[in-house]
Amino acid sequence: MPNLPDPVDLAIPAFVALVLAEMIAARFRDRRRYCPKDTLTSLGLGLGSTVAGVLSAGLVFALAVWVHQFAVFEISWAWYWFVIAFVLDDLAYYVFHRSAHRVRWFWASHVIHHSSQHYNLSTALRQTWTGFFSATFLFRLPLFLIGFPPAMVFFVAALNLVYQFWIHTETIGRMPRWFEAVMNTPSHHRVHHATNPRYLDSNYAGVFIVWDRMFGTFVAERDEDRPRYGIVRNLGSFNILWAAFHEWIGIARDVKAAPDWRARTGYIFGPPGWSHDGSRDTSDTIRQKWRAREEQGTWKRSTISSSVADRAEAPSRVA
Ligand SMILES: [Zn+2]
Ligand SMILES: [Zn+2]
Repeated sequence: MPNLPDPVDLAIPAFVALVLAEMIAARFRDRRRYCPKDTLTSLGLGLGSTVAGVLSAGLVFALAVWVHQFAVFEISWAWYWFVIAFVLDDLAYYVFHRSAHRVRWFWASHVIHHSSQHYNLSTALRQTWTGFFSATFLFRLPLFLIGFPPAMVFFVAALNLVYQFWIHTETIGRMPRWFEAVMNTPSHHRVHHATNPRYLDSNYAGVFIVWDRMFGTFVAERDEDRPRYGIVRNLGSFNILWAAFHEWIGIARDVKAAPDWRARTGYIFGPPGWSHDGSRDTSDTIRQKWRAREEQGTWKRSTISSSVADRAEAPSRVA
């Protein structure tokens, strides 16, 4: 087994340098991009996530090694297996990330990443504290069962995380067309972080946007609908503990108040915003309401514009 470095550790100096460079660029171009309190919160959340990661890393690795003994194939350390592992791990990331937005249990752990109303490189540092508790490692287990060595999978997973750093920026508009077609980019990931109804629950990709295109979750960024960042009900606080645990507290409260087991299960495993009496909004209901409003608006606009056209035509008819 080769002695693999940790790509995240190696990338940290570059992360810091890039955040500083973007901060300076933002001072000249758009001061709203960086808010000192928000950036400090991001740093705190990044630090907390690193600590949580270190604490659980041993257990997660032991579990991976244990599962790997039931592997179907024996996979060598040849370079091409790293490439295949990278692609399959990115697919596993897509499945995890989609579940993280559609199942409240996983959302409680992932919401921290979406807790900022700003979108800049420091937002990327907001990573989960409760990933181990919510058992998100389950999504990678199939790779060990196929036969990929745990150290190889964790190495490519770290590369994946490093890639995702640079896409958290408004400084870059669009990349070349071929790149936007295949890769996850700042434009695609801005859509993922946006709360505009059009953009909700889309672009789950880690590195390759092709998964979203294949599985029907791709939405393109539109210049006329600029992303508004955050979560549907924003935290309104810079408290890092609240950002890390608020959804878990929400689940506990809802389960305690739930009238029966069906409701309890729904509050844990239903989509975020699900409620037993339908009194809250999920991203689906938000989108439905928005579509209905849009259709009404289009209908109104078309009636108005046709009557304007009639009036515009009138003089020529008279003439
Ligand atoms: Zn997400
Ligand atoms: Zn992100």
